Amino acid sequence: MTGEIDWGNLSFTFTKTDYNVRCYYRDGKWGELETSSSEMISMHMAATCLHYGQEAFEGLKAFRGKDGKIRIFRLEDNAKRMASSADGIMMARVPDEIFIEAVKKVVGLNKRFVPPMESGASLYIRPLLIGTGPKVGVSPADEYLFMVFVTPVGPYFKEGFKPTNLMITRKYDRAAPNGTGSIKVGGNYAASLVSGNLAREKGYSAVLYLDSKEKKYIDECGPANFFGIKDNTYITPESKSVLPSITNKSLIALAEDLGLKTERRPVPYEELETFEEVGACGTAAVISPVAKIDDLDNGKSYVYSKDGNPGPISVKLYNKLRAIQYGEEDDKFGWITLIED
Ligand SMILES: *Cc1c(COP(=O)(O)O)cnc(C)c1O
Repeated sequence: MTGEIDWGNLSFTFTKTDYNVRCYYRDGKWGELETSSSEMISMHMAATCLHYGQEAFEGLKAFRGKDGKIRIFRLEDNAKRMASSADGIMMARVPDEIFIEAVKKVVGLNKRFVPPMESGASLYIRPLLIGTGPKVGVSPADEYLFMVFVTPVGPYFKEGFKPTNLMITRKYDRAAPNGTGSIKVGGNYAASLVSGNLAREKGYSAVLYLDSKEKKYIDECGPANFFGIKDNTYITPESKSVLPSITNKSLIALAEDLGLKTERRPVPYEELETFEEVGACGTAAVISPVAKIDDLDNGKSYVYSKDGNPGPISVKLYNKLRAIQYGEEDDKFGWITLIED
């Protein structure tokens, strides 16, 4: 019952909702969308997702505006990215139409779980594609399950939009240069658990990874993209092992709209010294501003916020993106899919 949900105190954890939707790929084709109220999946014990990592996921959000309307942010972009993840680990592609219909359907079926605007919370949408067909030898499955569940999540920053600290270590990599870093697969996350945990134990919010080959360039910031701002320019790394964040792409468009220059290019480690503002970006937090980066290998520290507040451009970008998501600002880029009440 939604009566039991304390909208103001949700965190990023699983809360049961009414329905999820599922679609099966069998005999070379996708079936009909099915609705389920079960949280369980039944599958063969030799399913390829369990043994050989045939698993890809997406993450996006729906927001309830002041007008009560529900808005899903950049749905088509997530559909396309999941197709590219499927290609990357040889899974059946979910056609864009099925992806879009599934997300709209599951949000529509769970409208009562889309938090009210005042709470700052939102409905997190988790599409998942897994190889379910049995294989013992290493090869792609013949059968797949695509499913989408939703769960209400709290605002990322409970006490407001606050900068956190990152650490650099050269002892761990997230993804190899010609590996799977640019697709959204569970394997990349498994590979980052040890280093991510180490960071949290030491009081950092995430590891800032350098490129795996030369350790000369900035790569990714755990499960988020990196950006730096200086001289009125928004700069983000170009790298084959960075996941193409839809939030980052949106911030680039908004930065240009605000009159900033934008650059997507390799970012040398030495450039950390020159940034005026630094942040991590992704669906969960939009922008997670960075106060300080400690390089644990050479003892250097790079400070971007001394007073515990985010920089002015980060604040502007954050507010602008949130305003579009909550329908307070015109959707001039066509990023919003409305769900009718
Ligand atoms: C999902 C993800 C991001 C953020 O992407 P968004 O589309 O902005 O949510 C960044 N890095 C990694 C590794 C990711 O998996």
